[in-house]
Amino acid sequence: MKLTDDLRYVKGVGPKISNILKENGFNIVKDLIFYFPFRYDDFSKIVKIKDLKFDQAVTIYGKLGSLRQYRIGKRKLLITEGILTDDTASLRVLWFGQRHPIKFKGKEIYIAGKLVKNKFGTYFSPLEVATEEQKTIHLARVVPVYRKIGSINSKQIRKIIFNIFQNLDLKTLKDPLPDFILKEFNLKKIDDAILNVHFPKDIFIAKESKKRFIFEDLLIFQLKILKERKLLLEKKAPQIKIYEKETEEILPFKLTEEQKRVWEEIKKDLQNQKPSNRLLQGDVGSGKTVLAKMAVFNVVLNNFQAVLMAPTEVLARQHFDDFLSFFSKKNISLGYISSNECLFGHGGYFVKISKEKMKNNIFQGKVDIVIGTHSLLGEKIVFQKVGIVIIDEQQRFGVEQRAKLIEKSKSSLIPHFISMTATPIPRTLALVLYGDLDISTIKERPFPFLVKTYIVSENKRKKVYEFLKNKIKKGSQLIIVCPRVEEKNDEIKNVKAEYKKIKEYFSDFQIAMLYAKMKSEEKNRIIEDLNKNKINILVTSSVIEVGLNLQNLDLMIIENAERFGLAQLYQMIGRLSRYGKESYAFLFLNKFTKNGYLRLKALKEKKNALELAEIDLKLRGPGEFFGKEQSGIPDLVIEGLKDLTLIEKSKKAAEMILEKDPNLTSFPELYSLYSQKGKILEG
Ligand code: ADP
Ligand code: MG
Repeated sequence: MKLTDDLRYVKGVGPKISNILKENGFNIVKDLIFYFPFRYDDFSKIVKIKDLKFDQAVTIYGKLGSLRQYRIGKRKLLITEGILTDDTASLRVLWFGQRHPIKFKGKEIYIAGKLVKNKFGTYFSPLEVATEEQKTIHLARVVPVYRKIGSINSKQIRKIIFNIFQNLDLKTLKDPLPDFILKEFNLKKIDDAILNVHFPKDIFIAKESKKRFIFEDLLIFQLKILKERKLLLEKKAPQIKIYEKETEEILPFKLTEEQKRVWEEIKKDLQNQKPSNRLLQGDVGSGKTVLAKMAVFNVVLNNFQAVLMAPTEVLARQHFDDFLSFFSKKNISLGYISSNECLFGHGGYFVKISKEKMKNNIFQGKVDIVIGTHSLLGEKIVFQKVGIVIIDEQQRFGVEQRAKLIEKSKSSLIPHFISMTATPIPRTLALVLYGDLDISTIKERPFPFLVKTYIVSENKRKKVYEFLKNKIKKGSQLIIVCPRVEEKNDEIKNVKAEYKKIKEYFSDFQIAMLYAKMKSEEKNRIIEDLNKNKINILVTSSVIEVGLNLQNLDLMIIENAERFGLAQLYQMIGRLSRYGKESYAFLFLNKFTKNGYLRLKALKEKKNALELAEIDLKLRGPGEFFGKEQSGIPDLVIEGLKDLTLIEKSKKAAEMILEKDPNLTSFPELYSLYSQKGKILEG
C-alpha cells in the first residue's frame, strides 16, 4: 500500500465509509495517517483478577461464562451480565444498554476497563472487548482514541488505520525536517514517529512521537515569522520627522508619564527608516487612542497618508467622529469607508460621497487619514503613499495583510505599523505568535478606576435590579451584556429575549438594544442617544462593545459571566469609570462551577489585564483562550503553546535552518510543507 493510494482501497473501507471520509477531506492514505489521536488509553497492562484495584484502567483476560441479558427499571435498561474467570479468580462483568456482548458467550476474551463499585455492586466495567485475533487493535496495548470523522467512530478509525499500517510502504514518506535538526533536537524520524503516534508501545513513546509533529508545526510557524521579519527589514519605511511643538499644541490635556514613555518609543519607530511593528497594549481607557492621533498627525505633516482600521463599523465610525473633531482646526482631511457609505471630512464637518469618488481622492492623496474596518484590505483602494497603518483592538495582523496594503500604494515604502489592544496576551504566546514584535504597554489610566465588581448568583437578581433602578433614577446609565444575540434552546441569556424582559421590569426608563447585525445607521443613532443620555439602559452583546467609548456609563450587568474569557470581562468592565466616575459591575454567574468562580474571583483581585490573561490561559488552556475557530491556529500548535521549552527549541531550529538556507531551496520537503501549511497560518 502506498501513501498516495485512494482510501477506498484500504481493507475495511467500503463505499459508505469512503464517502464519509471524502466528505471530511480524507482522500488518500496519507491524509488519514496524519489524523492524530487526541488521547490514549493505556490498556497495555494485562492484570490478573485477584490483583485488580478499583478505578484503574487495565485489561483482563479470561473465559466469559453464564452470560445473560435482562432489562431493569422504568426505562427498561438492557443489562448484560456475565462472569469472567481467569486462573486466579472470577469476576462479575456488567454492560449497560449494549446488545453485542452476547456474542462473546463462552469465549476466551480480553476486556479493557475498570473495576468499579456503585449501586450495581462491585463489577468490572468494560470499555473494549476483543478476542485473541482482535486484541492487537483495540486493547492489551496503549490504545489511540480519535475524534469522530462524520459518523465514523474512534474504534472504526482505529481499525482502518491499523489495516493501513499492516502493509504500508513508509519509505516514500520523506521527512520534512532536515537531518541536522533531528539530531540537534533529538527528534524521531517521521516514519518512526507516525507509526508510534498510532501504535505506540507505551504512553511515553506516544507522547514523544506526537511532540515531534507539534515541533514541526511550531517550526513552520517560526519560519514564517522569521522570514517575514527578514523580508520586512530589507524594506524601507518613510522616515517621519517629528513636529514636537505642533504635537504638544494639539493635545487637549497633559500626557501621563506612561503615555510619555510609550510616545518616546513610537517616536523612535517613526523616525527610523526600518518598518516598525509595534503592539501597543493598555487597559481600556488608558489612553492609547491619543497616541495613535499623535502618530497620525506627524505622519500627515510629513505628507504621508495614515490608515486606521477597527474591528467593527460602529467603532470605525466612532474613530472617524473622534478624529474629525480632534483635527478640526488643522488642514487635514479624513475619509470614512463602510460597506454602505463613504464620508469625507474636513474642518470638523463631513459630507457623504460615493465610493468611487472616495477611492479617487485617496489615490490622488486628497485624503490624509483613511478610517474603516478591516474590510479596507479587501477593497481595491490604491493609496498615494501610506506612512502608517494603525489597527485598533486586534493583536494579530499578518505580514500578508500588510503586504496587501503595500501592493496598493503607489510608493515603494512600507508603512509603519501599530496595533492597539486592551486584551494583552501572555509573553509566551506573544513570542510564538509574533516573534520579535515590539511591545509597548501603558500601565496606568489617566483617571482613577473606581469600579466595584460583584459576583452575584441568580437569587440576588431582584436586589440588584432594585439597586440599579435607584441609581438610574438619579441619572446613571446601565449596560447589560449577554453572551448571545438570538434565542437558542438553552439557559444562556440572549439580547433579544433579555431586552423584552428588561423593558417590562424597568418600564419607567428608556431602553434600547444593540447587536452586530443591526443597520449601521441605527447603531450610530443609538450610540449618539446613549452619549446624550437619552437612553438609560442598553442591552447588548459582547462583540459590539469592544472599544466603544460611552461617556456616561457607570453601571454594568454581565449575564452568564462564566462564559466569557477573563480578559474579555476585564475589558468590558473597563468601559466603566472612563472619567473616574464611581461605577458598579454585576457579574451574574448563571451556572456555578468552581473553576468559573475562581476565574471571576481573580478578576476582583488582579490589577491588570496581563496578569489576568496569564491566569485565564492557565485555567482554560490555550484552545479556549484563543477560541479555536477564530484563531485559525492549528490544533497541534495550540497544544504546543503549553510547552515553552518546545517553543524555544522550534525557534532556535528555525534560525538554524534559515541561516543555512534562507529560501529553503535545499530543503524541498520542508519547503513544501511550509508553503502548504503556511497558508493556513495566515489567518
Ligand atoms: P483607550 O483607547 O486606551 O481605551 P482612549 O485613548 O480612548 O483610551 O482614552 C480614554 C479617555 O481618556 C479619552 O476620552 C481620552 O480623551 C482621555 N484621555 C486620554 N489620555 C488622557 C490624559 N493624559 N489626560 C486626560 N484625559 C486623557
Ligand atoms: Mg480604544
